[in-house]
Amino acid sequence: MILRPNDISGPVKESADVCIIGSGCGGGASAKILSEAGKKVIVLEEGGNFTHNDFDMTEQTAYTNLYQQRAGQATDDLSVTVLQGKCVGGSSTVNWTTSLRTPEFVLDAWKKNFGVKDLSADDLEPYFDRIEKYLNVHIEPEENHNPNNRIILNGAKKLGYHARATGRNTNGCVKSGACGLGCPFDAKLSVDVTYIPDAVKAGALIFPNFRADKIEVSENRKHVRGTILDQTTRTPRYEFDIEAPIVIVAASAIHSPVLLLKSGIANSSGHVGKHLTFHLTSAVVGIFDEVIYPAGGIPQSAMCDEFLNKNGDGGGFWIEAVPVYPALAALSLPGFGEEHHAMMKKFINIGASIVLVKEIDSEGEVAVNSYGRPSISYSTGIKDRAYMKEGVNTAAKIHFAAGAKKVMTLHTTPTIFSSPSEIERQLENAQWGANEITMFSAHPLGTCRMGEDVRKSVVNSRCESHDVPGLFVIDGSVTPTSLGVNPQITILAIAEKNAERIAEHYR
Ligand SMILES: Cc1cc2nc3c(=O)[nH]c(=O)nc-3n(C[C@H](O)[C@H](O)[C@H](O)COP(=O)(O)OP(=O)(O)OC[C@H]3O[C@@H](n4cnc5c(N)ncnc54)[C@H](O)[C@@H]3O)c2cc1C
Ligand code: SF4
Repeated sequence: MILRPNDISGPVKESADVCIIGSGCGGGASAKILSEAGKKVIVLEEGGNFTHNDFDMTEQTAYTNLYQQRAGQATDDLSVTVLQGKCVGGSSTVNWTTSLRTPEFVLDAWKKNFGVKDLSADDLEPYFDRIEKYLNVHIEPEENHNPNNRIILNGAKKLGYHARATGRNTNGCVKSGACGLGCPFDAKLSVDVTYIPDAVKAGALIFPNFRADKIEVSENRKHVRGTILDQTTRTPRYEFDIEAPIVIVAASAIHSPVLLLKSGIANSSGHVGKHLTFHLTSAVVGIFDEVIYPAGGIPQSAMCDEFLNKNGDGGGFWIEAVPVYPALAALSLPGFGEEHHAMMKKFINIGASIVLVKEIDSEGEVAVNSYGRPSISYSTGIKDRAYMKEGVNTAAKIHFAAGAKKVMTLHTTPTIFSSPSEIERQLENAQWGANEITMFSAHPLGTCRMGEDVRKSVVNSRCESHDVPGLFVIDGSVTPTSLGVNPQITILAIAEKNAERIAEHYR
């Protein structure tokens, strides 16, 4: 059952076998596995419950209802915007459907450097297979790539770089372009329309608008206490108290550490909130003679992965298309007044690609601010900055090869190239520090990292706290390093595997 706002008329006190905090990839997959294994599961979700009827394909509605801080969540210095979902289904409800397995070199590094057990490519293979089947992950046929994705496929091919179509978790996609605004056609097989309904079928109780504020641990019971919010005004209505022997924190790499830090638990290592990675992302924008219309068609269906771990140092970058909706474009494009107006008038002729860096020497931290909310900091390392520069350079070349007449970066000081020969010199002079180029992240990871050394990690390879038996963290925060691919399939696989182990262990 999914609780509706009118079902609640006072404080809520409940008990369960398992209380899960967060209903995204980590929480949703855990809820399905554990409720199907016969556990009484309660899922607490701070955001509201919205369905295809609520998704009107406008940015205003989507940012208001479905995103953390109305899509304005950012590092404290505002240098990196951190996009995340806040609704039943979590970030999967607003994500762009790219479905990729964890690269083997990344899993090998987790084992070698962090002692992570049972999460090799072979261990995860059956989970990847099962998830891909469940979510109908498939490659789009050639004719389905929109012009924005074709820039990557065609441009990279001309330059001899490896590019390919990526898997997508959809069924019956009508190419509306609205993945980032909630799919009005239920074609995107996100957690809200797959794992959550299946968990409910197996008896799970989903409590939307329930924000967990604190976990209290005493002997073998745990209490999750928090606030029930009004779905529209977000003001507090009542308090709740859920008692359970097993608690799974699945509130994401930004919000899970906040909850643990506020609760004063699971941090004997001192690593909670540390080692934040972003897949630090910037973009290039090409101006074409033909219509690209970056808000339409399938938003993301191709990537150039030529430069990921190319030097064997575990770093590098990859390039993907990005859906550009008008408000987002107005915020990201450089310039002011007339200049900015002229740029926006060319909206239908722009194509945009993102460059995502798999960090090796950049790191951030999530702490708690005086309002009890996340305080996010991040600083870039020399190597990653060099990869970002190379990535922007490469993406600009790809745009010209695909036919762009002009290409620009998102530097604060406008950096516009009229031909490929101008790229190198202008990028040499460009500034790459905080707030000198627009940066964002839709993939925060790593703030409660897993490992077998209790001094260097927060949870073990089964995602269980080193300090508190029965307390698990199962979401994007457990990855020991940056991933190098879009994370949803990795998080789902870790969740399915570890939820199975919880069901088995606590039989
Ligand atoms: C715009 C966008 C596009 C993306 N595109 C892709 C893509 O194409 N492919 C891909 O693989 N990945 C993509 N991602 C990333 C992917 O969706 C996330 O990495 C993944 O969903 C993270 O899963 P999670 O379980 O860690 O957290 P989330 O899915 O973010 O879920 C966490 C949930 O916990 C809730 N929560 C937080 N705090 C509390 C609290 N105190 N109490 C109760 N509930 C709480 C939140 O509201 C949220 O719903 C995208 C993300 C975004 C934002
Ligand atoms: S592009 Fe496809 S999956 Fe995305 S919102 Fe539109 S119909 Fe849904």
